[in-house]
Amino acid sequence: MLKLYNTLSREKEEFKPIKKDEIGIYTCGPTVYWFGHAGNLRSYIFADILKRVLLYNEFKVKHIINVTDVGHLTSDSDTGDDKMEAAAAKEGKTAKEISHFYFDAFRKDFRKLNLIEPFKWTWATEHIKEQIEMIEILEKKNYTYKTDDGIYFDTSKFKDYGKLSNKKIEGLEAGKRIDLRDKKNKTDFALWKFSFPEDKRQQEWDSPWGKGFPGWHIECSAMATKYLGKQFDIHTGGEDNMPIHHENEIAQSECVWGVKPWVKTWMHGAFLNIKGGKKMSKSAGKIKTISQLEDEGIAPLMYRYFTYSAKYRKPLVWSSEAVESAVNSYKKLKNIISGIENTAGKNKMYLKEFEERINDDLDMPGALAVLWKLVRDEKASGKIGTIRKMDMVFGLDLLKEEEKEKVPKEIIEIANERQKARGGKDWARSDELRDLIKAKGWVVKDSKDGFELEKSNC
Ligand code: AMP
Ligand code: ZN
Repeated sequence: MLKLYNTLSREKEEFKPIKKDEIGIYTCGPTVYWFGHAGNLRSYIFADILKRVLLYNEFKVKHIINVTDVGHLTSDSDTGDDKMEAAAAKEGKTAKEISHFYFDAFRKDFRKLNLIEPFKWTWATEHIKEQIEMIEILEKKNYTYKTDDGIYFDTSKFKDYGKLSNKKIEGLEAGKRIDLRDKKNKTDFALWKFSFPEDKRQQEWDSPWGKGFPGWHIECSAMATKYLGKQFDIHTGGEDNMPIHHENEIAQSECVWGVKPWVKTWMHGAFLNIKGGKKMSKSAGKIKTISQLEDEGIAPLMYRYFTYSAKYRKPLVWSSEAVESAVNSYKKLKNIISGIENTAGKNKMYLKEFEERINDDLDMPGALAVLWKLVRDEKASGKIGTIRKMDMVFGLDLLKEEEKEKVPKEIIEIANERQKARGGKDWARSDELRDLIKAKGWVVKDSKDGFELEKSNC
């Protein structure tokens, strides 16, 4: 039995799909105005584990991840710059160039982390029509009002508002005059924002309310429903998405489609924090991108392994000591596995224990402990087949041999020169060149066919 924690009920529930033949999952995707970092990617690793556990349990999965390329403002209260427009202005490029460049970079990281690609990446700017249609329905049903800067959703008209985060509709303070620019309630949010000539926006569209662009929340409601239906199984995101973005997605969708609940299970991943308790983010500084990690010798899958040191609902603190320890432990694990003899079959006892862990709300630290117990158990049979099966969920390439590092051309040339020196019995020159090769991080070994080059360990 698979149990998942549902933010909506605040309980671990037995997972029961809406339709037997296919499970719909929607994951709030990246805002592609800059590089993703290890923090963002922790949220996608969590979504990937969820998907892999469902696949392991032999469900069919249809997964959608959106790409936010318009409408995500720097402030959650519908003010501030559009992140895409600001990045385009700063880099002197078009918003499209920015979104495609950073999406490509994100997707490369995604693949390096062995994250299974979604059924579709859905781009907000390619679904403007669907977003406008939803706002029109909300308008017809009288959930909207107009201010000087846009069309807003009136949260006081949706009695379930706040059910996900357990918050109350925040109304106006008594006696405060309503300025037309203002919202009626603090929790109200923009569905459509008007463009003003002084904004000089690159991305704007005609709409029944004039030129403008959609608010951030409506894109997820429109695209999730288009691809997964008016009611679907699971919606994921980082914990910061929950109190505003997801609350607003629920309000719009349940009012438009008249379904309850729009999504059956809401799941949220906790943050990757930096020391001191702050989440890893561009604004807090100290972020790590996947390429920076690679430069430091931390392969993407080592980072993936590190994320299994905490359950997905618990914060994980980035520290160089903790990451280093995970890197060593991953290397050790692969090393032990490479020495295991391949005997036939699978080990039922260990698989059962493993399944109990993953099916208990994706307990990856627990699952990892089972794997370690298996590899250390000298008497266990069917180890390789069991590890292969477990790796369907871990996604750690546990049975893939490390590729030998390619020898750089320069090192080969020096080794050839050394070979010539040896042929001419110039031992002093030969030793000098051996030391040079060593200084460059390689070891030359003489063999009967000439020489071999290996990466040095020190
Ligand atoms: P963004 O690109 O800013 O819209 O964020 C994409 C996703 O990454 C969202 O689901 C965020 O909740 C998530 N996220 C951002 N920072 C972190 C972090 N430090 N740890 C975990 N998830 C994060
Ligand atoms: Zn979203």
